[in-house]
Amino acid sequence: MNAQDMNKRIRLIMHLRTRGITDTNVLSAMERVPRDAFVPREVLDQAWEDTALPIGRGQTISQPLVVAAMTEGLKLSDRDKVLEIGTGCGYQTAILAHLSRRVYTIERHVPLQKDAEKRFDQLKLRNITALAADGMKGWPKINGIDQAPFDKIIVTAAASAAPPQALLDQLKPGGIMVIPVGPPGEQMLKSYQKNEDGSFAIKDLMPVRFVPLLPDIAKDEEAA
Ligand code: SAH
Repeated sequence: MNAQDMNKRIRLIMHLRTRGITDTNVLSAMERVPRDAFVPREVLDQAWEDTALPIGRGQTISQPLVVAAMTEGLKLSDRDKVLEIGTGCGYQTAILAHLSRRVYTIERHVPLQKDAEKRFDQLKLRNITALAADGMKGWPKINGIDQAPFDKIIVTAAASAAPPQALLDQLKPGGIMVIPVGPPGEQMLKSYQKNEDGSFAIKDLMPVRFVPLLPDIAKDEEAA
């Protein structure tokens, strides 16, 4: 890494601090994961700016501040098994992989999922299992093996009214789900903590703008 890249990284981390991110594990993961390895060449010069960027198929890599706030909201421990819905380019996945035991991640656009998996290989991130499927249904049983329930669940696309029931069901008692909820223009990032009796303590974290959570695997011709 050259000195200029180093400066850009440090500037972004300092910016996240001034915007209220205090968890030092989250900040150091964001300093270590090379965001430039996740964005298309055309926007490479903006890789370390605090802005969302296009990643193809009408989707975006989330703004670093939002990635940091969502990660902080999960209160991760290195023993956690995490489910992520909406792999996209895999940047948020890589941050989670640094801070948890294992990450299971689902993307409905097959080409995005394949590219993300290649990046995980290149970056030698070995604790990620990636799948092309409809994440609204939760993590499926594969060869009779059930990975649910999860300690933490993160959804990086917006649910229109409430989190999908299958995801609420796959959260462990005591576990936390972070998910944007609401129609376009009125989305709120929310945290759902599951109580031992199966009820939820719900908190608003910040207003956000996400692409919608959509059902089924995306068709080839679908752009968004
Ligand atoms: N964390 C990603 C965000 C990508 S945008 C990143 O920073 O790159 C949200 C992603 O959620 C899109 O790639 C979209 O295709 C995906 N998505 C939407 N609905 C989905 C569903 N039901 N299952 C899996 N992925 C979904």
